[in-house]
Amino acid sequence: MDHPIAYDLIRKLPKVDLHVHLDGSVKPETLMELAQQRGVSLPARSRKQLLPHMQVEDDCTSLKMYLSKFDFVLPFLQTGEALRRVAHETVEQAAAHTIGYIEVRFAPQLHRGAGLSVEEVIHHVVEGLRSGERKYGVVARGIAICMRHHGSKENIEVIEAAASRSGKGIVAVDLAGDEASYPPQFFREVFAVSHKRGLPVTIHAGEAAGAENVLEAVTRLGAVRIGHGVRVKENPELMRLLAKQRIPLEMCPISNLQTKAVTSWEQYPIRDYFERGIKVTVNTDNPTVSGTNLTKEYRVLADKFGFAATELAELVMNGVEAAFLEESEKRVLRRRFRRQFRELGVG
Ligand SMILES: [Zn+2]
Repeated sequence: MDHPIAYDLIRKLPKVDLHVHLDGSVKPETLMELAQQRGVSLPARSRKQLLPHMQVEDDCTSLKMYLSKFDFVLPFLQTGEALRRVAHETVEQAAAHTIGYIEVRFAPQLHRGAGLSVEEVIHHVVEGLRSGERKYGVVARGIAICMRHHGSKENIEVIEAAASRSGKGIVAVDLAGDEASYPPQFFREVFAVSHKRGLPVTIHAGEAAGAENVLEAVTRLGAVRIGHGVRVKENPELMRLLAKQRIPLEMCPISNLQTKAVTSWEQYPIRDYFERGIKVTVNTDNPTVSGTNLTKEYRVLADKFGFAATELAELVMNGVEAAFLEESEKRVLRRRFRRQFRELGVG
């Protein structure tokens, strides 16, 4: 079907990606090289053969099944060199889709298999983001993730390390993993530490469990942004609260469909949220695992939900406002994006 918004315009539109996982962004070619360097043989010899191990298929039935894809790549992301390279390439891939600002998230505790400390993992990822930033002109920051299946001690260690890098490449902390098995109330003690250290919090919630998790994340864990929030639609009062408090949702349409946060596009609430005044942002989650990129995500919104170019620009600006950046840095981004929109004849 021909859509009035050209693919090319969506690609050229300046964008931000606030929700993208480092270990979900590894290029198959890079994984092959990392395996070769370590002398490990992979079950595939080409990009095409390797992709099914790294990417979900149409038969993905849950978040748990989706998350299993990460087990394949994580063993190769255990050295400083690998972390720097993958972080750099995540920025490179963002630049290819005219992303002007990216926040890349990673769980330091998952990259310690070869003896790196939490601080060292953070250092290497930030270095990779910085070299990507210099080369591609994409402003890049990191978010450190606490894992749901980890104990308080390990998660607090992540928050303390992230806090000591606050303003030096790390901008926030997150909670990710199996939401259905580990509800947010288990993590009050952990996020009280980030509150004490003045580090902003975003929480994956309302993806694989109900709206009550979003409410808990906002009211008890101090979340100022929510990852996904697809199931917020179950609770009209919560929708009003998010709109009123201007709490942005980091939505990732293609991933949300794959993890079965919704079973069809008809049920996907993004248009409804947008019209209710909720600050919706559009993100990739995991470009490799989901077989996506930000151009593709915005194209889904135009094709399936009838978003016009000016509305897509509004979604982009929601992302700029939601960015974990200093106001002075945001101002620069805001001006640059508005000028680029005008040049493209949008807004
Ligand atoms: Zn995520």
